[in-house]
Amino acid sequence: MIRFENVSKIYPGDFSALEDINISIEQGEFVSIVGHSGSGKSTLLKLVYAEEQPTTGTVYFNDRPLDAIKIKHLPFYRRNIGTVFQDFKLLPQKTAYENVAYALEVSEGSLEEIQELVPEILDLVGMGDKMEKYPRQLSGGEQQKVCLARAFVRKPLIIIADEPTGNLDPNSTMEIMQLLLKINSMGTTVLLASHNKSIVDKINRRVIELEKGRIIRDNAKGKYAV
Ligand code: ADP
Ligand code: MG
Repeated sequence: MIRFENVSKIYPGDFSALEDINISIEQGEFVSIVGHSGSGKSTLLKLVYAEEQPTTGTVYFNDRPLDAIKIKHLPFYRRNIGTVFQDFKLLPQKTAYENVAYALEVSEGSLEEIQELVPEILDLVGMGDKMEKYPRQLSGGEQQKVCLARAFVRKPLIIIADEPTGNLDPNSTMEIMQLLLKINSMGTTVLLASHNKSIVDKINRRVIELEKGRIIRDNAKGKYAV
């Protein structure tokens, strides 16, 4: 589904963030990208989202090179992808329900669709009884659950989660990880970036480890685990 072929990324100022990355991710996989701060995790995810372009090499989505997508078509490509970040980025003046509904409104969901899908998805993440709360009335873990609901409500093919548990306590961290696993079990490919190796090792899925922009471990099926 996603393929990196000899991808390097050099940011302006000659800073090399990724070097010669070759990976292939199948539909339905749960892939964690780990590594210290600055190792290139977010850059890798941004390349998938086509928010950054490789300096050399090519990223493919279903065998289609992303650099062939015209800028005006990028929003359509990105509808395949839901994103979750460390800082929750909920709209403070909207309730949990309205935050999730808004994601459907901007993609022209009908009112019936919104009224059906939003409670369903908030139930799925365990926030069904807090739909009318505003972000400030929710804990960090609860806010992140709403973010997950928002990212997932259009049933994207891929969820990109960049340090989604970075601001959470261990309890909420495990809850969010369980939800990501649940979403994955429904068929969505999950790409998770985290500097927390231990939580990633706990879930026993594929782990790609980056060090200074290079892959030093990838336990993909058929690959030699270092
Ligand atoms: P991680 O997510 O693993 O912390 P990043 O992918 O954010 O790593 O960053 C990798 C390296 O690239 C870091 O050293 C960072 O400073 C650098 N970098 C990231 N974004 C930019 C940018 N827009 N311009 C210049 N350098 C950047
Ligand atoms: Mg990062």
